[in-house]
Amino acid sequence: MPKVNSFDLLLFGGTGDLAMRKLLPALYFRHRDGDLPPHGRILGLARETLSRAEFIAKVEASFDRFVPAADIDKATFETFAERLDYAKVEANTPQDFGVLADTLKDSPAQVRVFFLSTAPDFFAPICKNLAAAGLVDANSRVVLEKPLGRDLASAQKINEDVGSVFTEPQIFRIDHYLGKEPVQNLLALRFANALLEPLWNRTWVRNVQITIAEQVGVETRGDFYDRTGALRDMVQNHLLQLLCIVAMEPPTSIHPDAVRDEKLKVLRALAPITRANVGACTVRGQYRAGTVNGAAVPGYLDEAGIPPDTSTETYVAIRAELESWRWSGVPFYLRTGKRMAERVAEIVVNFRSIPHSIFPSAGKETLGNRLVIQLQPEEGLELFMMAKVPGDTMSLRPVGLNLDFAEQFKQRPMEAYERLLLDAIRGNLTLFMRRDELDAAWRWCEPILDGWQASGEMPRPYGAGSWGPAASSALVGRDGAAWREES
Ligand code: NAP
Repeated sequence: MPKVNSFDLLLFGGTGDLAMRKLLPALYFRHRDGDLPPHGRILGLARETLSRAEFIAKVEASFDRFVPAADIDKATFETFAERLDYAKVEANTPQDFGVLADTLKDSPAQVRVFFLSTAPDFFAPICKNLAAAGLVDANSRVVLEKPLGRDLASAQKINEDVGSVFTEPQIFRIDHYLGKEPVQNLLALRFANALLEPLWNRTWVRNVQITIAEQVGVETRGDFYDRTGALRDMVQNHLLQLLCIVAMEPPTSIHPDAVRDEKLKVLRALAPITRANVGACTVRGQYRAGTVNGAAVPGYLDEAGIPPDTSTETYVAIRAELESWRWSGVPFYLRTGKRMAERVAEIVVNFRSIPHSIFPSAGKETLGNRLVIQLQPEEGLELFMMAKVPGDTMSLRPVGLNLDFAEQFKQRPMEAYERLLLDAIRGNLTLFMRRDELDAAWRWCEPILDGWQASGEMPRPYGAGSWGPAASSALVGRDGAAWREES
């Protein structure tokens, strides 16, 4: 990959929530730490009429809200602001793109990155208008935010529209969970150490649990959420991508396609869940009123914009299996939900217990070892081993060998978008989803949606502030397993 010394980053949706809360702060931090190529401009684009100074003031005001005061210093912000500019561009108005092309015509930038932080309905017109204005060439890249479709057909339509302007190696589909430091550390842990590989299979792994639990409800996005639901919003993308990183075979290199080929094989190895087994393999839930963090919150049906008879799920738990030599028979439990007891994202690998205990009293020695990869709220890796409690009895309990990144490396961990934006500018596709991965993920999820619809059953109610419907404990309990918080 040639070194990139200069870039133009065109941020569509540049005044939106994602841009202000995540993308511009991420760019600021990479600027502050000297990781952005020296000559690089960031151009915010939206329909609002704003001068450059007004856009910079807006960014500064949003930093006051979203960036810790200790991380901002005036002088660095001023040098960052030198990179910023703004243009009014309406996605469906070709003339606006003509004006944009005039603005950029003398730019010496080596690469041009179009970041589409807008609703996906605008992806096609933006790409078409960029091409018509002569703004796309071999050194252009486009970054797409989720949601990438609501089913296979709509995902394929987006990919075809974007693919008619950009080639596949120019398309960067974001799944920000892949940008998280512990996820990349899992790659290092698995493929830079000999220790785990002999254990990383059906012989030694009892089950894998992947959880993304949120405490928030649908906030102001009830209308969007009700058309989406937990499976489309979280499973099809984030949970399946995390599953791929856990389950993939060692790639031949860290080359993007070598990694993505292995992830694709995992997605294709997922045992189908159809009308026949959807009831046995999945649990859907919908939250009711309850208490989260000591505050009373309304139920899903009482949120703004939610129809009273909706069957949209705010919680899903799935027992997935992979049809492969390495993983045959090992359950992969996936779950995600809103208004849960805790805000947590984690991968738990439960190893099998010892075949015979020589310690008569403790009981817990049969728990088995456990590797916990914590993505949220803290980031870290912890391997639980059985150890003796100090004292005169042979009492045992699990003790965590803790890989605390912040402590070990004494530096602020990079936020996912910092890594991903740098990769998009540098042209590194490893942490971005390829089109065939997206298709394979939808191919597995669609029959689940179909099965739910055909069953005619409503999601099971669960209290806000709980860990979901009781049936999700039964889902894992049938294998003699328990969710982490229950064991
Ligand atoms: P948002 O706050 O509603 O912002 C939308 C942006 O698009 C604004 O800058 C808006 O500015 C611009 N826009 C709207 N209509 C436009 C048009 N016709 N032409 C050009 N620009 C237009 O949305 P967001 O939360 O930033 O989310 C953006 C996308 O990222 C969505 O697809 C969302 O699902 C996805 N996403 C968001 C988050 C998040 O945390 N917010 C996380 C993951 C994914 P004007 O109104 O001035 O044009």
